[in-house]
Amino acid sequence: MNIHEYQGKEILNSFGVRIQRGIVAQDAQEAVNAAKQLTEQTGTGWHVIKAQVHAGGRGKGGGVKLAKNLKEVEEIAGNIIGMNLVTPQTSAEGKKVHQVLVAEDVYYPGDNEPEEYYMSVLLNRSTGRNMIMYSTEGGMDIETVAEETPHLIFTEEIDPSVGLLGFQARRIAFNLGLSGTAFKEMVKFVSSLYTAFEKSDSSLFEINPVLKTSDDKIMAVDAKVTLDDNALFRHKDYAEMRDIREENPTEVEAKKVGLNYVALDGNVGCMVNGAGLAMATMDLIKQAGGEPANFLDVGGTADAKRVEEAFRLILKDEKVEAILVNIFGGIVRCDRVAQGIVDAYKNMGDAINVPIIVRLQGTNADVAKKLIDESGLGVHSAVQFQEAADKVQEVLS
Ligand code: GDP
Ligand code: MN
Repeated sequence: MNIHEYQGKEILNSFGVRIQRGIVAQDAQEAVNAAKQLTEQTGTGWHVIKAQVHAGGRGKGGGVKLAKNLKEVEEIAGNIIGMNLVTPQTSAEGKKVHQVLVAEDVYYPGDNEPEEYYMSVLLNRSTGRNMIMYSTEGGMDIETVAEETPHLIFTEEIDPSVGLLGFQARRIAFNLGLSGTAFKEMVKFVSSLYTAFEKSDSSLFEINPVLKTSDDKIMAVDAKVTLDDNALFRHKDYAEMRDIREENPTEVEAKKVGLNYVALDGNVGCMVNGAGLAMATMDLIKQAGGEPANFLDVGGTADAKRVEEAFRLILKDEKVEAILVNIFGGIVRCDRVAQGIVDAYKNMGDAINVPIIVRLQGTNADVAKKLIDESGLGVHSAVQFQEAADKVQEVLS
């Protein structure tokens, strides 16, 4: 589950990680009040107004702006709230901004120049261990750094039986070129960050930038936090951080009816039982010259009601030009599934306006094929995988 920057920072702060302080606001007036409150708490006269959407690159899209007085806070917050923010990580339409984070300006002048670093904590899947990835090149896309200056990205792997060790935190501070107060601050920052990652059951922390202020404090200026959905049962307070306005509405609906649905960009909808078969089906669609419009695992019970729900979800996506149903009848009998498809089709009438290719394999596949072929509906049946692929190709061209 993804959460907003301000929520991620709340979690970090609760584990003693230093953050750029801020207050979230829903409208321009709240933003002004937030700014006044921050001035009292922190002494800052300048504030940054930051769009809260689940997408990075907000700065580049005009979603992060500096305000030098309360009038500017009001103006900027008023402009950002309600805008459709387009960033390199959103679609062309962008994401609607419902709220902003009013934060203290932490790039104030002083003895030293402020410096930006990159730091993330994530699982290295090939070693099965958590790692801290970090770089002197903060504030930039890490993908760009990886491409152009890979030698400036460092990693530190953590042995799960002993956790992050002191020398590792010190090595990170050293590799970032720090000394004195900033070095000590970084060691503390890294240790508390790693504790936060473990205790919050997160699957990703990305802090870009981590800032060294002009007076040598180390803090998180940004926070991308992804929580592990499977651990939310033991973090009721985090579960409440979910903002469904940020999620794909069809995926939210699918979750409600218990279907495993993930929206994709292609033109062929798929309805499959079992995640492995769903992946193979997506490959098949690609081979046939199409692009999958979604991943959808209907699970074990493919009865008429479920099939109808699945059809409705798939058809919400206007890009869908054909639907491929690929069901293996192991526990569930193919003829029952076929009957489900026929019933759903009849129930939905005109709602189904694209060709449907059905491949049923397994128990009673022959009975199922007959049922579909004799239904008189616009459904193409197939028994073999290749046959199904050919039919997809046929209806697309
Ligand atoms: P992102 O663009 O979505 O990654 O949002 P960030 O939170 O990383 O902010 C983008 C950029 O805004 C940062 O890289 C900083 O350069 C700038 N920024 C963030 N906070 C401040 C601040 O307090 N003062 C100033 N002057 N700039 C800031
Ligand atoms: Mn950032």
